[in-house]
Amino acid sequence: MAGETRIERTPVLVVGGGPAGLAAAAELARHGVRCVVIEPRVEVSHRRPRAKTTSIRTMEHLRRWGTADALRAAAPLPVAWSQRVTFCESLAGRRITDFDGAFGLTTAQDDRFAEPGQQVPQPVVEEVLRGHLRRQRGVDLRLGHAAEDLTQDPEGVTVRVRAGTFPAYLIRARYVLGCDGAGGVVRDQVGARYEGRDDPRPNFNLVFRAPLLDTHLGPAVQYWVVGARRNATSGLIGRLDLAGTWWAIIPGVEAGYGTAHAADLITCLAGGPVEHEVLATDPWSARMLVADRFADRRVFLVGESAHVNPPFGGHGFNTCVGDAVNVAWKIAAVEQGWAPPDLLASYEPERRGVAEATVASAESNNRVLADVLPRDEAVIQRAKRAEFHSLGLVLGYSYAGSPVVQPGARSAVDVTSHAPSAEPAASLAADVTTYTPSAEPGARLPHHWLPDGSSLYDHLGRGFTLVGPVSSDASDVADLVRRARRRRIPLTLAEAPASYPWRDEFLLVRPDQHIAWRAAAPAGIDLEAAAGFAPGL
Ligand SMILES: Cc1cc2nc3c(=O)[nH]c(=O)nc-3n(C[C@H](O)[C@H](O)[C@H](O)COP(=O)(O)OP(=O)(O)OC[C@H]3O[C@@H](n4cnc5c(N)ncnc54)[C@H](O)[C@@H]3O)c2cc1C
Repeated sequence: MAGETRIERTPVLVVGGGPAGLAAAAELARHGVRCVVIEPRVEVSHRRPRAKTTSIRTMEHLRRWGTADALRAAAPLPVAWSQRVTFCESLAGRRITDFDGAFGLTTAQDDRFAEPGQQVPQPVVEEVLRGHLRRQRGVDLRLGHAAEDLTQDPEGVTVRVRAGTFPAYLIRARYVLGCDGAGGVVRDQVGARYEGRDDPRPNFNLVFRAPLLDTHLGPAVQYWVVGARRNATSGLIGRLDLAGTWWAIIPGVEAGYGTAHAADLITCLAGGPVEHEVLATDPWSARMLVADRFADRRVFLVGESAHVNPPFGGHGFNTCVGDAVNVAWKIAAVEQGWAPPDLLASYEPERRGVAEATVASAESNNRVLADVLPRDEAVIQRAKRAEFHSLGLVLGYSYAGSPVVQPGARSAVDVTSHAPSAEPAASLAADVTTYTPSAEPGARLPHHWLPDGSSLYDHLGRGFTLVGPVSSDASDVADLVRRARRRRIPLTLAEAPASYPWRDEFLLVRPDQHIAWRAAAPAGIDLEAAAGFAPGL
């Protein structure tokens, strides 16, 4: 890289400003760690909406960043408008069956989570996060910039960046987050590669305007048109907004046929001819891929650069956000000196199992698409329930077995797997529908609404939090606080509410709301180990 003129320095360089990169920057900003985000796309494209499901868990992270309300305000389809997926013969035809409360959509307060899910096109999520990051002092969001290559040495990473036709410049960072998706450069640059399968079946996406299109079936976030007769088409269709913009996914249709026959496809799904204007078409096929490693020294693969899954079930970008939060709080802890670099080694073991379980669940959803489903309520309910009701996967995964989680604990839905076995993720994904709150170490802290209407999560600190009867065991608690001060580990105390099922126990909660340690008394909490310090240091 000799001969370059400009060299800039930053603690963290985020390569890629899709959902993973924007989320990583939001988490770093929450902890006050500076970063540069480079992203080639100056504008997001509303004609290519990609993900539409923002999960309960992602909404909880948005709440931590203070952006949940902004996303709901920007979402074209309010949760109150519909929480339903409808299966039908066509938009004009017979209703076959419904799934209510799909994708975590609800208007009722539920003790299990702090935020319901939200249907919202990915470009809107990205715009809201871009807006949020522009208001964060430590975040330098550079649109129109792309990474070309990188080199690593023991002290840092040097990345060559180009903005349009301007001469390339260098950014020197202590850590690089490769959030540049499936087609980025970071995965190749660190010598990692995807392992997995491609589904050979084609799919065809359409976005179109049809302000006069409506349905007697009532509001639904997705309509699955199934069991099409000869010369007709099955597929999914839904509103992007309430102003007449629609999306559709038609399985089994090649790009050439889809482009030439877009009007016929829309007619089949609508159940009759409808005036429309095609805004965009996107041919794609599903992929089930996980990288052979998620990290190389100071570089971490985050989101789709590490794993890719079919979109059915709506887990794609949500899993990417989970990665981003996991790695970003750990980098913040290391940068601020309250954790050793060893903490970063827990990123891959914690996230690999989640990625494998997500790929397995999405692959299972991808096996039974609209083109093979019969017009049979019982069959559809059996085949598709896990796609629309997957709280076990969204909230129930555990980091048990991680080097920084109390040893010996297992969770009811434990998707952490270190062994490179062909089976574990698939079998664990078998019951993604059931979420049983668990206070086992590794699990997400069971949520609870407090009498004043706030969420227990609103009372957690930015570092670690000790949740429990913290005022009743003062000397033991004070001792833990002293240990935290000695290590400069931020520790917040949160009194467990009287109605909390685990109110008599002490739960050490990490910045990402997962339980690191659980004990009957504060003396049993190994705060140092939870932050990655080796015993005796
Ligand atoms: C057609 C399509 C439909 C989809 N539908 C759904 C859906 O319905 N539901 C769902 O959950 N998921 C869906 N997905 C998947 C979802 O969009 C992804 O899971 C999500 O976008 C991944 O986020 P990411 O940030 O990891 O990667 P990306 O969104 O791919 O973001 C990567 C970013 O890196 C940037 N970049 C690339 N190269 C460089 C470089 N050299 N330097 C710097 N930046 C770079 C890119 O511009 C991009 O912004 C769909 C994907 C596609 C392609």
